[in-house]
Amino acid sequence: QHTVWVLGNGQLGAMLSHAGQPLAIDVRPVDIMTPSDDVLPIEASHVITAEREQWPESSTSLQLSTHQHFINGPVFGRLADRFTQKSLLDELAVATAPWQLVDDTVTPEQLYHQYGDRVLLKRRTGGYDGKGQHWLKQVESSLIPADWRNEAIAEQAINFDEEVSLVGVRTQDGRCLFYPLTLNLHQDGILMASIAPLTRLDHLQAEAEQMLSTIMNGLEYVGVMAMECFRVGEHLLVNELAPRVHNSGHWTQAGCHISQFELHLRALCNLPVHQPQVNFQCVMVNLIGIDKDDRWLSLPNAELFWYNKEVRPGRKVGHLNLSVHNTDALKQTINQLKQWMPAQYQAPLDWILAEFC
Ligand code: ATP
Ligand code: MG
Ligand code: MG
Repeated sequence: QHTVWVLGNGQLGAMLSHAGQPLAIDVRPVDIMTPSDDVLPIEASHVITAEREQWPESSTSLQLSTHQHFINGPVFGRLADRFTQKSLLDELAVATAPWQLVDDTVTPEQLYHQYGDRVLLKRRTGGYDGKGQHWLKQVESSLIPADWRNEAIAEQAINFDEEVSLVGVRTQDGRCLFYPLTLNLHQDGILMASIAPLTRLDHLQAEAEQMLSTIMNGLEYVGVMAMECFRVGEHLLVNELAPRVHNSGHWTQAGCHISQFELHLRALCNLPVHQPQVNFQCVMVNLIGIDKDDRWLSLPNAELFWYNKEVRPGRKVGHLNLSVHNTDALKQTINQLKQWMPAQYQAPLDWILAEFC
């Protein structure tokens, strides 16, 4: 009997539980945002993972994070801070967008000189879905916010062709395995849709695997990790890393014989891990800030994951995995969604259609 505790009880924890169920892995997501004096019944043989990079310190989070089987313990803090994450990429010589710390003295002019007339400031910690970012634009004579000094990095604006990600796993005995690259569309910093696999990305797979192997081996990582990249011509630059299951890997729930959630659990519990087989191509559409619509269930090639969170603008509240057994059926589904979904979905849904034309 395997028991896996999860720091955090959001949708990733819920989907880990869901994946553990048929393997009789007892997955227990823990709310670490609400302070509590409860002592969790964690046994010495249990395993601890996290669905997020950062958490507030409390007696509960300490109980989990100080356990002897908190897998990848030191990795979370290192990747949760963009300064140490980007430093790691530089140390490992993995290509990434050029960057520097926003220190006490650097001026916008120095940054424009170094990186060009648009520079992206990113808070070192706490950012997600494009939050915690600030563009400096030479034409607008932007200023560096005072409270961002030493708390942010400055990155060169990358004029990328598109965004892709690689989700991989490293086992306890150090083997690395990967899903095929996923094509991602972000709108206003938030992931809207993903498509995988795509034969037109196959020639980038080896380079991507090399990069993520270097990172996972360098960290002696165990479990699933995601690497977000910019494709610039025929090469990849790492945007950022996530030491966990990742939104751009949700398509594997429908498309692969082992989903990213099951793969992570297998690696953590030292169960057999082998190359996930792709059963069919998938499209994943994130449901963001919209109410649940049961008409989605009438789409013949769709699987709905509804997170049961309070709906707020810009908040991820679910996703749809659409199988692409049949391109015409996919196009029909996307055209139907275009009629049901609000304005901000028209461009992402057209982006999907364009890939299949
Ligand atoms: P996530 O929700 O993926 O954790 P995040 O808030 O941590 O997002 P990033 O992934 O760093 O932020 O950036 C969000 C998006 O902003 C990227 O997917 C990309 O579209 C855009 N972006 C980030 N960095 C750059 C850059 N250097 N140049 C151009 N665009 C960028
Ligand atoms: Mg991020
Ligand atoms: Mg990102």
